[in-house]
Amino acid sequence: MNDATQCPKCLGTGWTIEKTANGPVAKRCVCYHERQAAVLLKKTNIPKRYRDCTLDNFEIHKDNAFHKDALAISKKFVKNYPAQDVGLLLIGPCGVGKTHLAVGIIQELVRKKGASCVFYDFRDLIREIQNTFAPESGLTESEVLAPVFRSEVLVLDELGAKRTTAWVEETVFYIINHRYNHKKTTIFTSNYPDTEETEDNRDSFYKKGGDTLVDRIGVRLRSRVYEMCKIVEMEGEDYRKLAKQASYRF
Ligand SMILES: [Zn+2]
Repeated sequence: MNDATQCPKCLGTGWTIEKTANGPVAKRCVCYHERQAAVLLKKTNIPKRYRDCTLDNFEIHKDNAFHKDALAISKKFVKNYPAQDVGLLLIGPCGVGKTHLAVGIIQELVRKKGASCVFYDFRDLIREIQNTFAPESGLTESEVLAPVFRSEVLVLDELGAKRTTAWVEETVFYIINHRYNHKKTTIFTSNYPDTEETEDNRDSFYKKGGDTLVDRIGVRLRSRVYEMCKIVEMEGEDYRKLAKQASYRF
């Protein structure tokens, strides 16, 4: 490999020799870990526009407490991984940085923990389920969907963004449940508010939007997601103010 031969530390072998009290010991060179991370990063399928999103460049808008908490939780998540067995559900309106944080988390997990991570848009997942399903071939064996089942950490972006048929809903449940049973971590983002416990405390903005998370993904999947995840709300005071201003204007 080209970049390997250029490494001055190991002269391209990927190994360095360290002298210890018990004699020389071979150790993996830094360049080896960097190459491994590069390979893993390629496999994450992070969309181009999010490729530069990291936890370090996540901006907290005007001291927003939701943003601060969400960032702190994301950092802790990376630090503790894989010791914790819950994923995250980042929930809130568009434009508050949910996807940025989810991508930032998997970028760090790849670099710092060497974890295999995959990013999927919910709509793409549904499209691929529809495309790949054939009665004679099992979903788990499908080459396209294999990373969704097998990756150590899956980001499923925009949960509920597409309405599905009962059959596809069943299949999404099967996939998520499969990950849950195999103790694989999933990070979801969603724009759809969850109303079960908060009833009328919701902003009028949400009501205009209509659907809640349950309306979009069904009761069963919602309760499974809640069992699998720590819920991170990211609505934000600023956003509410902006939404109100917008409604005055139009
Ligand atoms: Zn090297």
